Formats: sequence, C-alpha cells, structure tokens
Amino acid sequence: NVRLLLRSALRTAKAPFQSRWISALAETSQSFKGHDMLAPFTAGWQTTDQNPLVIEKSEGCYVYDVHGNKYLDSLAGLWSTALGGNEPRLVAAATAQLNTLPFYHSFWNRTTKPSLDLAKELLETFTARKMAKAFFVNSGSEANDTQVKLVWYYNNALGRPNKKKFIARSKAYHGSTVISASLSGLPALHQQFDLPAPFVLHTDCPHYWRYHLPGETEEEFATRLANNLENLILKEGPETIAAFIAEPVMGAGGVILPPATYFDKIQAVVKKYDILFIADEVICAFGRLGEMFGSDEYNIKPDLVSLAKALSSAYMPIGAVLVSPEISDVIYSQSNKLGSFSHGFTYSGHPVSCAVALEALKIYKERNIVEHVRRMTPKFQDELKAFSKSPIIGEIRGTGLIIGTEFVDNKSPNDPFPPEWGVGAYFGAQCQKHGMLVRVAGDNIMMCPSLIISGEELDELISSYGKALKDTEEWVA
Ligand code: PLP
Repeated sequence: NVRLLLRSALRTAKAPFQSRWISALAETSQSFKGHDMLAPFTAGWQTTDQNPLVIEKSEGCYVYDVHGNKYLDSLAGLWSTALGGNEPRLVAAATAQLNTLPFYHSFWNRTTKPSLDLAKELLETFTARKMAKAFFVNSGSEANDTQVKLVWYYNNALGRPNKKKFIARSKAYHGSTVISASLSGLPALHQQFDLPAPFVLHTDCPHYWRYHLPGETEEEFATRLANNLENLILKEGPETIAAFIAEPVMGAGGVILPPATYFDKIQAVVKKYDILFIADEVICAFGRLGEMFGSDEYNIKPDLVSLAKALSSAYMPIGAVLVSPEISDVIYSQSNKLGSFSHGFTYSGHPVSCAVALEALKIYKERNIVEHVRRMTPKFQDELKAFSKSPIIGEIRGTGLIIGTEFVDNKSPNDPFPPEWGVGAYFGAQCQKHGMLVRVAGDNIMMCPSLIISGEELDELISSYGKALKDTEEWVA
C-alpha cells in the first residue's frame, strides 16, 4: 500500500522534531526540574513531569507563571473558573466565612447556615424539572460516586436488588475515583487500574462526525444510537439496569455535542425500562452552553444531577447532587427503617465552600451570565469554526463558550495523524508560545474560557489560535 509506505517514510523523517514541542514547553520554566509531586494526569511521555509550568497568579481570564509570563487561560482552570481568576466578591465571601465559622459539619442534624441556604438556592435555580434535595460533596467525582450509592440504595428500598447496573457512554468523563472512573468511557482511565467495575456498561459515543454511516442524517444517527441502547438494555435484562448517565455536552472526551433529537430518543428508551437518568452537569451547568443548565439546553428531565466546578467558580472545592422528589421520598422512608441515611463526607456542605458558591450563584444571576454567554457565543463559535477549512483540521465543534478542535489528516475521521507526531501537543505548545493555554488530549484541543470573557479577550484568543494553527500547519506540511 503506497499510501502507508509514504506515511511511514514521512513519520521517520519527522521523528527528530517530536521533542520540539517538549522543549518549547520546557523553555518557560527551567528552574523546576522534576519535583516531589505525583501529579494528576501527568508522569508519562505524553505529559512529562519535567519543567512544569508553575502558575502563580490569576487575573480575570488570565494566569501568570512564576516567571511573570501571562497567558490567556482558554480552559478556565479545568473548565471551572467561570468568574475568572480574581473575583473580589468570592474572596470576600470566603474570608467573611473563615472569620466567623471556618468549619462545621452537616452530620446528625447539625449543619450550618451557608449549606442550608445553598441547598435552597440550588433547588430554586435548577428549573428543568422539580428537584427535592441537594446533597453536598467536594468534587465532580464524589458527586458521581454518590449517584451510584443513591441509586443502589433506592433500588434496594424498592425491593429491586438486581437493578444495579449503570450505562455510561464511550468517551464520557465522569471523574477519577474507582466508581466515577468506571463510569468514564476513556480507556486511559481504565487500563492497568483494573477498571471499569463490572456493574458499568458503555454504550455509543454520540459523535456524529466520527461515527455516522454514509448518508445517515443526524436524526437517523440518533435513532440508531437509541436503538443500540435499547438492544443493550434488552440483552442485559431491563430488570438489571438501574441508571443511565450522560454529560449534556461531553467535555473531556473532546467536546462532543449530542446530535439532533438524541436526548429525546435516549430519554424515551430509559423511561420505557424504568431506568433513571443522571445528568452529569459538572461542566455544562451555570451558563456554559448559553442556558443555566445543559438540561435546559437539551430538554433533559433528569432524576439526578451532578454539579461541581463552576458551582463555586472553582474557588473552593464543592460539588452537589440534586435528587428528584420520587427518589428523595424513597431514601427517606428507607432511612427511617434503617435508622439513618449513612452516607456523607467530613466536608459535605463545608461552610466556606457553600458561602463562596452562594456568592457565585448570586453573581451569575445579578450579572446575567447566561445572557453574556449568549452575546459572546457567535464570535467565539463562528470565528473559531472559520478555521475548520484548515487542511489539518477534521472538525471544530461547540456551543456557547465551549469548543473542541480535532486534528486529522485529509480531513477524515478515519485518517488520524500518527500519535507519535504529537500534532495536538505541538499546537498546544505553539498556543503557549503565543500566550494562551489550551487543553490538549491527543489530537483534540479543548477550550472553555471563563464565562466573563470580553469581546476583546475573545479577539485575542482567536488570534492566538490562528497563529498557533498556522505554525502547526507549516510544521505538519
Ligand atoms: N464530571 C464531568 C463531566 C467532568 O468534566 C469532571 C471533571 O472534569 C468530573 C465529573 C470530575 O470532577 P472532579 O475532577 O471535580 O472530581
């Protein structure tokens, strides 16, 4: 096969350049050679732990490293600092709470005012359907772990001991603990970790561009995926399937939007078999998509919701699980039989985290963050998507203030660049050179800036993207 031979020759010729992006990264922080931290999602040839980029300060949509270099942080931390890097009201809320009550727990009918107020506020803010209770955790992973326990507890209470399996999707990201990594559908989170746990099944990733059949419309693709889900449920036995979990827009899997009609069809299937729907809104909530929640955007009526990240604009660790009235009723009657609902964490409803989250929610509403996202969306989406004519880009996809770029050869989903070329990593290093940080995962690039980003800052983001793309095109050519 001539094409393969040519490609292999090209690959060999490019090998000496592989280290170029690593040294580009290294240039920025020579003084930190290796360190004592076993860092998350680091240590390996893909993301060496030599010469880390050490961030020291943040200001609006920007961060500064220890050498004073300034970067537009196009991922808002980890899809999280929705209100930017120095919102004084969040700092004041934390400080005031630290000065009055830095800690008290929420066990055994003791609790704090900020946690009570935040639960009330969250239930009022989530309007896609009525929710009855909010349970507080410290992270998105803990939220999803809690989901699994709640669902098991619920089905045991209902006398359905076999209804225990979860269906998640390929390329989903639901976290990194034993259970949430199992729900995730990314092989790197499973391999050599003895995961996924056996009660988790994965169904199709809803990525139309990559997986549709020739001539298949988005609606037909959605129908096929819903049929595949139904077939999986029937094969396993509906009496064994407890819940389906989905991110409204998949984040870490590459910013993957649901195809038209997808969630309508999926919800119809899970409803038919009395399977609970869990919306993992850890990235999508609080305005990211141009609606307060992803459930609003896609008309999802979830039984359970996971929240974290922008809940406190990431200033303090906090997550939450919203529980429907039906599930909450069952949990209460079961707990009455057993004596208590024995689940929770020392820091569930931490008063400082709750105080910061309350203030964040107040700011989202006062500044009408949803409206701001809608105003910024056309520039962000249209001007970035204009780059999709690049010969090395297969697809640019997104909505609201979240967008993904996928680099491929020949503009085809079936023609990836050889992974060892590190095309995505090269692009990421060029962005860094041009003063911007992006999220790189293989040849996928993800951007999800702070929701307060201005038009001028978006111009800068788009310009840095364009420069890095030009560099990368020349490098790949
Ligand atoms: N769920 C989604 C959709 C996420 O994107 C993430 C993190 O990126 C998580 C869950 C896990 O959250 P955490 O890292 O706070 O545990």
